[in-house]
Amino acid sequence: MDIVFSIILTAAVVSLLWWRLGQSYRVQASHAEADLKSMDERLENAQVEMEHHRDAVFDAMTDGILVCSLKGEILFWNSACRRMFQLPETLPDHLTLLEAIRLHEVQEVFQRTIEKGRMMGVHLKPRGAEALHLMLNAVLVHHSSGKPGSVLLNFHDLTQLKELENARRDFVANVSHELRTPLSMIKGFVETIMDHPKMEEETLMNFLGKVQKHSDRLALLVGDLLTISKLESSQATVNLHEVSLFEEVSRVMNDMERAARVKGVTLKIDIPDAIKVKADPGLLEQMIINLVDNAIKYGSTDGCVEVRGSFNGNGQICVSVKDDGPGIPPEALDRIFERFFRVDKARSRAQGGTGLGLSIVKHIAQTLGGRVWVESQLGKGTTFFFTLILSEESHSQPQLMLEETRSAAKV
Ligand code: ADP
Repeated sequence: MDIVFSIILTAAVVSLLWWRLGQSYRVQASHAEADLKSMDERLENAQVEMEHHRDAVFDAMTDGILVCSLKGEILFWNSACRRMFQLPETLPDHLTLLEAIRLHEVQEVFQRTIEKGRMMGVHLKPRGAEALHLMLNAVLVHHSSGKPGSVLLNFHDLTQLKELENARRDFVANVSHELRTPLSMIKGFVETIMDHPKMEEETLMNFLGKVQKHSDRLALLVGDLLTISKLESSQATVNLHEVSLFEEVSRVMNDMERAARVKGVTLKIDIPDAIKVKADPGLLEQMIINLVDNAIKYGSTDGCVEVRGSFNGNGQICVSVKDDGPGIPPEALDRIFERFFRVDKARSRAQGGTGLGLSIVKHIAQTLGGRVWVESQLGKGTTFFFTLILSEESHSQPQLMLEETRSAAKV
């Protein structure tokens, strides 16, 4: 009986243990299932996040990226590519390369990339966007098995580079032209002098005077070219000092007095003598010389040139150089600060101009932290304006602060 009882007891204990074990396995299994599910979810989220990040990286690129299947169906494009070819926001299903880009050159590059593995440096000018200049590189992309999977097309925008290249080419052509004229004159006069060793002294002196005039012109041109190249390459050493604007302008006006007198021009200054600006004295002087020289050269005979300085209310001084000459035609105003731009080429050359004076003024104004602009009315005259930074010393003078506040209120 005892044995039977112990067998039954043992069986009951074993069943209980078995049931408990099963229960615990079931709980563990359900936990494992939940863990697996959450891992799946996390994996899926990570994948979505990765895809989102990949798209964001491609969209941040300035190059246009387009991926095509080997059949020519577009699988992916980035924002830059959409902008370059004015493509829709969402990629339609089964859209082919030729349907989207409609450039046979691109289709040809795609085909040849499948045959050769890569195509580099193909230049394109998309229709309808004539100003756009692109360079296309394409590579065949392989699966991990080594089988070709897709073609990646990379469109690099060369438009800005081309514009710079054109500007550089124009500049070199202009410089060569400007140098050639005085050089050929010098050569001509020197050859004539050498061919006629017994030339009359008066004629000889006349010819030598012309040689000197053209050499001066060459020296002026080379000087202006060096100045402009230094300013453009930011190599110009800028020494900012507290400068008295009145003193600086007076000095220039004194130097210009002879040229003004020859033309009967009256020079006037209207600048509060307490104004101090933060500027490089050499650069400031060059800017004032160029503007006053132009005002005398292109202004009226017996006219008046006035330089004024006034507060423009935001810690800056506005300087104006005004003449009462014939003015600048409205269509020329936008181009007046371009290198070698002249309203009247013959007149500028006759006056000894290099065509670089205003371009130098623009660069100096920017280097000194200001800007320059022009207002002109035909028959009434021209005024060039530029801004300068007021020195800290002027800022701290109560009287000047008051004047600045007053002029700010006027604006
Ligand atoms: P330039 O050496 O020919 O004077 P600038 O760059 O100084 O070169 O000036 C460019 C052109 O702008 C001049 O050729 C002239 O036609 C015009 N210009 C400049 N200043 C004046 C002015 N005050 N009045 C009329 N035209 C001007």
